[in-house]
Formats: sequence, structure tokens, C-alpha cells
Amino acid sequence: MKKHNFSAGPSVLSKEVIENTAKAVQDLNGIGLSVMELSHRGKEFQAVMDETVALFKELLDIPENYHVLFLGGGASMQFCMIPFNLLNKKAAYLETGTWAKKAIKEAKGFGEVDVAGSSADKNFNFIPKDFKIPEDADYFHITTNNTIFGTEIFEDYDSPVPLVADMSSDIFSRPVDVSKYAMIYGGAQKNLGPAGATFVIIRDDILGKVDRFIPTMLNYQTHIDQGSMFNTPPCLPIYTCMETLRWLKKLGGVKVMQKMNHEKADLLYGEIERNPLFEGTAEKDSRSIMNICFVMKPEYQELEKEFLEFTISKGMVGLKGHRSVGGFRASTYNALPRESVQALVDAMQEFEKKHAK
Ligand SMILES: *Cc1c(COP(=O)(O)O)cnc(C)c1O
Repeated sequence: MKKHNFSAGPSVLSKEVIENTAKAVQDLNGIGLSVMELSHRGKEFQAVMDETVALFKELLDIPENYHVLFLGGGASMQFCMIPFNLLNKKAAYLETGTWAKKAIKEAKGFGEVDVAGSSADKNFNFIPKDFKIPEDADYFHITTNNTIFGTEIFEDYDSPVPLVADMSSDIFSRPVDVSKYAMIYGGAQKNLGPAGATFVIIRDDILGKVDRFIPTMLNYQTHIDQGSMFNTPPCLPIYTCMETLRWLKKLGGVKVMQKMNHEKADLLYGEIERNPLFEGTAEKDSRSIMNICFVMKPEYQELEKEFLEFTISKGMVGLKGHRSVGGFRASTYNALPRESVQALVDAMQEFEKKHAK
């Protein structure tokens, strides 16, 4: 039986996407070759790359003057590539969690970093609101969904300087006004495909403004000029991303996905609020629709391990919270079926009947 997969990443993919990828691994479109054994420069793989880029543009309504790239190295590689390519003197960052902190650490190696806002004082359980983006920064970097702490930025900020966003864990979960961003990036392994591919949506007018030497592989211009084919791209992960985007398009696109995601999140947050055993960790107006973090109320604390084992016995995986928050984290990415969330809610109610004082 297929498990209810609440893993934070790599995470659940739709059954159809996995089946179609398995077919292409055996034989791509009946050409007698696996998608894994094709030249990345041949016409068959070029068609995969072209369709994936086209689906990105169509589904996110990306304006003309942007490029869509697929690179290696994960979102973590972007943490250094961004300042390498964009930071002359000073960059501004919003510090909303572990990933933002890692991005800030890299930027500090290239220049001054202005932390425009931070939620560190409350263990990152909210998104700062009253911050000012410095107008003399080379760019402003945000993490739209904080995978570990379960908070999310739903607003496309108006920024006086180029806005750069790590959307690793909420890309394609809702419509985004791409024109407000100079760059959007992320690892594929949360909402898109298997680990190994990193997507970058970038406007090229932000490039060419730093004086330092940029190694060829770390230079965005290289990958723009070569259509993500300067070196061998992660072909199989890109193929799976394409299948995910085909699936997403068939379901009706990001607006439909947003509605489904809110329904799933409302169902679970509703139960967390109602159930006397549990409580959420993120502030209500900041809480994520992708990663739902909750703990056992203090008086039930000692039942945490037992509840986790209870969910495992019911075929659920990946619910253990990140060590920096504790408790539980249910990742409810696009491909997680509503039935999985319902199964978790049922388990919480069954556990309540057994244990409520
Ligand atoms: C998972 C994650 C990362 C790290 O991605 P890698 O591909 O493992 O480098 C970075 N940022 C966010 C928001 C993430 O969720």
C-alpha cells in the first residue's frame, strides 16, 4: 500500500508523474531509448527541455523578458551564486528561518549584508511586517516559504531594488506576480520533481553589474546564453519536472492548486485548533499552506513519541518535526492528496479519544 507521504523533501510526487517517468526510463515515447541514455543535445531531450521551459512560462505567466534555467547544485548553490553575480557593495535580506540564514552567511563573503527584518527573536514563528527595504541595496532577498518553521510570505512585495526569492518549497502552489521579482529560484525536490534539478527564473538586466571575475559555471549569463546546456543538465529530474507540470496543467494550473492547497491546510489547521491535545507553532497570519508545524500541548508533551508511532502504524511517514521546532510537521505539497490530510486528522481524533484528560 502506498504511504501517506508528509516528508518535507524530497517529497511526494503524483502517482501519474511517477508512472510516466518510469515509462520514460524504460523507453521515451517509443524511440527505443531510455530518457537516461540520450544525448542532452539531441532533438529528443531538447524537446523535453523546451516543453519544461514553456510550461514554466505558461503556468506561472512569466513575462517575455525572463529566462528559465535548470542547473545543478540545489538551492544551496544559489545562496553563493546570487551574491557572486549580483552583490557589488551591499545586499538586503529578510531573515525568516534556517534557509534565509544560510543564504545570508554566503552573501557576507561578498559584501555588506543588511538584515532588513528578522523573526529570529521568536524562533522564526512569524513573517516580519514593519521592515524597510534599503534603497541602496543591490538586491533584496526573501524566502517565501520557510520549510522548517512553517511560515510563508503570500504577498509579492513591491521592492525598490531587484527582488530575489527562494521559492524552493512553494513554487507552483499559488499564482505569483513574477514581474515583481528579478529572480526566483529553488530546488525541484519539494513541489516539482526529484532532487537534482534547480530552477532559476531570471531577468537578465540585473546581470553584468559586478566587477569581480565570475567562474564560468557560476555565471548566470553562461547558462542563459547556452539555454541551460553549457554542461550536461540533470536530464532525468528535468523530465520528471515536465511530467509534474503537465499534470498540474491538466488539473487546471496554479489557481486550482492554490484552492486545493488551502482546503488541505484549512482542514489540518482546523483540527490542530480544535483538538485539545495539539497546538500550532506559527502565528496565524504567517502560517504556511505547504509545511504545517504543530506540537503537543505542554500537558500532553509526554505523548509526542507515542503519537508519532501511532501515525507510522497508520501508514504515514515524514511527520516528525525538524529538530529546531520539535513536534510534528506535515508537509502538504501540491501532490499530497487530500485523503492523506484526512487520514492524519482522523488519527489525531482517534488519539484524542484515547488520551484526552
Ligand atoms: C529545501 C530548501 C533549500 C535547500 O535546497 P537544496 O536543493 O537541498 O540545496 C533551500 N531553501 C528552501 C526554502 C528549502 O525548502
